Amino acid sequence: SSSKHDKEKGVNVQVIVRCRPLSEDELRLHTPVVVSCNEGKREVSAIQNIANKQIDRTFLFDKVFGPTSQQKHLYDLAVSPIVYEVLEGYNCTIFAYGQTGTGKTYTMEGGARKKNGEFPSDAGVIPRAVKQIFDILEAQNAEYSMKVTFLELYNEEITDLLALEETSKFIDDKSKKPIALMEDGKGGVLRTAETLLNKQSSRSHSIFSITIHIKEFTPEGEEMIKCGKLNLVDLAGSENISRSGAREGRAREAGEINKSLLTLGRVINALVEHSGHVPYRDSKLTRLLRDSLGGKTKTCIIATISPSIHCLEETLSTLDYAHRAK
Ligand code: ADP
Ligand code: MG
Repeated sequence: SSSKHDKEKGVNVQVIVRCRPLSEDELRLHTPVVVSCNEGKREVSAIQNIANKQIDRTFLFDKVFGPTSQQKHLYDLAVSPIVYEVLEGYNCTIFAYGQTGTGKTYTMEGGARKKNGEFPSDAGVIPRAVKQIFDILEAQNAEYSMKVTFLELYNEEITDLLALEETSKFIDDKSKKPIALMEDGKGGVLRTAETLLNKQSSRSHSIFSITIHIKEFTPEGEEMIKCGKLNLVDLAGSENISRSGAREGRAREAGEINKSLLTLGRVINALVEHSGHVPYRDSKLTRLLRDSLGGKTKTCIIATISPSIHCLEETLSTLDYAHRAK
C-alpha cells in the first residue's frame, strides 16, 4: 500500500515493528512472553488476558523483525533502500518509536565500538548508514559534500551535541566525559556524546542528520547539484504520551506530555490521512523536520516493543500508534 499512498497522496510512510528478546534478568525470572512475531506474514500478535479469556490482537505492518533478528538484517532490509533514496535526492527520516527499554537506542546506535576500532556486529542504523553513504559515494567517485548534525531535544529546547563535545574538549579537558567514536572506515570520525544522551534519554529526542550534496552532470554536460537528507531520530519513550493524552488531546499537567512526541503523531496522521492542515509549527521536532516530512519525502517508523507480559499495556499502545501511521 506504500506505492498506493505514493501515487494518490504523495505521502510515503513505512511502518516497521521490531521486538527485542527477553533480557537475561527476564529470562532468569521466567517472565511470560505475550508477543509473537511472524516475519513472513508481517504480523505481530499480542496476547491479552481479559477476564480469564485469552484474546489475540494481530496487527499487520510493512515489515516485522522478531527477537532474534540481527542488526545487519534489519539494516539491509529496512534501511539500506532508504539510503539509496537519499542519494537520489530524497529527504528521508527514520524514527525509532517505543517504550523506554525496548531497543530504540540499540536499533539506532547499537553496541559500543570495540577497542581495536573494528565495526561491531551489533552496530546500529547510524554507523551503518554513514558507512554505506561513504562506500557508495567513493565507489561512484562522486564529488560531494556532507554535513552532519546531532541534536538533542529536551523540554522543547535544542542542544547541539557535537558543539557540546567541542566545548568540553577545549574548556574542561580534565573531567573528560567518555565519548564513543564511530569510524566510517575511511578515516573520518563521527562523534556521539553518549553520556550526554543517556542522561535524560527517556524524555529527550536525539536527531542525527546527514545532508549530502552531490555534483552531477547532465548528458548535455551541464553541472547540477543533487541534495538529499537523512534524519535518524531516536524518540523520547512513548510512555511520555499517555494514551488518553494522544487520543483526546486533553490538557494535562505540565511536563506530563511530551509536546514534540504528541505533535509528531498528529503530523504523521495528518499526512497519512491527507487532512488539509498539518500542524508542523506546534512543536520543535516537527519544525526541525519540516523539510523531511510530507511532500517528496520518505518516512520510516521503527516501532520497538518488548515481549514481556509486564510491558503489555505499553506494547499495545505502541502497536496502535504505529498502526495508525499506516
Ligand atoms: P531504549 O533506547 O528504547 O530505552 P535500549 O536501546 O537502551 O532501549 O535497550 C534496552 C536494553 O535492551 C539494552 O540493554 C539493549 O542492549 C537491549 N536490547 C534492545 N533491543 C535489543 C535487541 N534487538 N537485541 C538485543 N538486545 C537488545
Ligand atoms: Mg534510549
